[in-house]
Amino acid sequence: MRVPLIVGNWKMHKDCAGTTDFIKKIAGLTSGLSGVDVLVAPPFTSLFAARDAIGSSSIGLCAQNVHWEDKGAFTGEISSGMLRDAGCGWVIIGHSERRQYFGETDETVNKRLKAALKAGLKAIVCVGETLSEREAGKTESVVERQLDGGLEDVGISGSGGIVIAYEPVWAIGTGKTATSRQAQEVHAFIRGRLASRHDGGGSGDVKILYGGSVKPENAAELIGLPDVDGALVGGASLIAEDFSAIIRASVKI
Ligand code: PEP
Repeated sequence: MRVPLIVGNWKMHKDCAGTTDFIKKIAGLTSGLSGVDVLVAPPFTSLFAARDAIGSSSIGLCAQNVHWEDKGAFTGEISSGMLRDAGCGWVIIGHSERRQYFGETDETVNKRLKAALKAGLKAIVCVGETLSEREAGKTESVVERQLDGGLEDVGISGSGGIVIAYEPVWAIGTGKTATSRQAQEVHAFIRGRLASRHDGGGSGDVKILYGGSVKPENAAELIGLPDVDGALVGGASLIAEDFSAIIRASVKI
């Protein structure tokens, strides 16, 4: 059984005080809830504040990016060890905004992933097609290329260390959500591709999250789909009431 995972990607939002307030609020709103795992991914500058605010609650701490080298002359970058030091257990890799604005490629996703896993971080690897790619009928070939390239030479069996997030780029921050059918189709495709690339080993255990305008109103339907194991949430993860409603809606009965 894959326990649902809900991840709040705050992108470039919230300072330290806002981070502390928000986490305390979420911890209160979801206290006593079981059957769901929750992560928050604040900006780097708020990681220590987040770690302190999380305290002994079950919320996990996730970073939004990681470099593949341990240390060195890489101005503006951050290493896996530094993220561990700041209290992170998780990192998001290959978000479409990194691909679109910062030159992220499948090759750099793969390098970041290997470095993160080596350091003991768990990773959420993002894949997803643009609108023009979907309209050209290329959704599966794009997702397959991102998956194969991003996970090249990386095993998936038994680690529990890799989560895939399917995020159609046209649904991120646009208010447009994939239909249940569209989401389930791509999630099943991803699971099938993992199974064929890894001889089936572990593909049934890998969590596949949906991301793209998830809100309290659509969360239960999307996360209730057979191959959808949770959500990567952007905008709605900045509002405590909405984020906690999504967390509650994800508990599979
Ligand atoms: C995201 O940034 O990963 C995301 C899914 O954003 P939003 O929920 O705002 O569409």
